[in-house]
Amino acid sequence: MKTLLALNGITKEYSGKKKAAVSNISFELQKGEIVTILGSSGSGKTTLLRIIAGLEIPDAGNITLDEKVINSPSIFIPPEKRNCSLVFQSYALFPNMTVKENIFFGKQSRENLEVINELITMTNIQEIQNRFPHQISGGQQQRVALVRALAINPSLLLLDEPLSHLDQDLKTKIRSELSDLFHKSETTTLIVSHDMEDAMSISDRIIIIEEGEVVQIGTPLEVYNYPTNRYSALLFGESNFIPKNMFSENCEHFFDTKSDQDVVSVRPSQFSLFNTNSSNDKLVIEGEVISVNILGDYKQVEIKRNQFILKINLPILFDVKISDFLKFVCDKEAK
Ligand code: ADP
Ligand code: MG
Repeated sequence: MKTLLALNGITKEYSGKKKAAVSNISFELQKGEIVTILGSSGSGKTTLLRIIAGLEIPDAGNITLDEKVINSPSIFIPPEKRNCSLVFQSYALFPNMTVKENIFFGKQSRENLEVINELITMTNIQEIQNRFPHQISGGQQQRVALVRALAINPSLLLLDEPLSHLDQDLKTKIRSELSDLFHKSETTTLIVSHDMEDAMSISDRIIIIEEGEVVQIGTPLEVYNYPTNRYSALLFGESNFIPKNMFSENCEHFFDTKSDQDVVSVRPSQFSLFNTNSSNDKLVIEGEVISVNILGDYKQVEIKRNQFILKINLPILFDVKISDFLKFVCDKEAK
């Protein structure tokens, strides 16, 4: 595969701030890849996208796009010459132009008529083409912004929290369509998001950033199953951080600065009830149920063994009450 985008040591500090907004960031995107930068609010995601788009100048580092250096201490290629499209979180549509005029604003867009029409149908905005941005909903504005960005056939598409304003139904539908669309059009896409579901469902790879620094890069399943710190694990929902020495086999672990020991991250859904056929004995744990919570499709119980409390999900119909003793096995696969 060919590298399309490469960042090397990108750093940006805003004056008056104690910590750099982004710090020594390096990664590569292969041509055609869809990658999400996942991080909590304030972790530097938007700053990083703006730097790649050329809207912000880094204090240090280099960026190469399509084998051309676009940022270095001595080179700065302006945004309009970068052949990338950035979709802002706030859409930034031209208020005095109709939807159609917005979409066909870019020069190259007129050459891509077929693709654009497909995009318009796919995103279901045919009916609103003659309206102005203030006459359509937030979700529609977001889709128009996306179509406008793709209309110029950019070699790199940059999306800032692209689905954050869509309601849940539309989000689920659009996620899979987007990933199809990006793959089909072979548009290399870099998304920034704080939403792990977006990241999991759309991306080929995920880059986790914490306070402006890269903490982990991997496929969605790698980062979900094998986080390299507590922050990375918790971006994907709850997890148990179990001391490594409770396992009989060596499992993928990390040094946890909070508990000051090596721990294995095991999610509440990664246990099953022990029975004599359980073949896996790397972690068998027995304890007393101290709470039962019904959480929609499943029950979550907390079980206590000595001072240690574990959260475990059980089938909704499983009969369990406080003070029961239950035995579980961890069925998380080794890496
Ligand atoms: P995210 O998009 O992940 O929420 P941002 O990139 O917007 O994070 O912000 C990262 C950090 O940089 C935050 O601490 C934010 O307050 C700061 N920051 C962002 N833009 C500016 C700016 N123009 N001036 C000063 N500080 C900024
Ligand atoms: Mg942001």
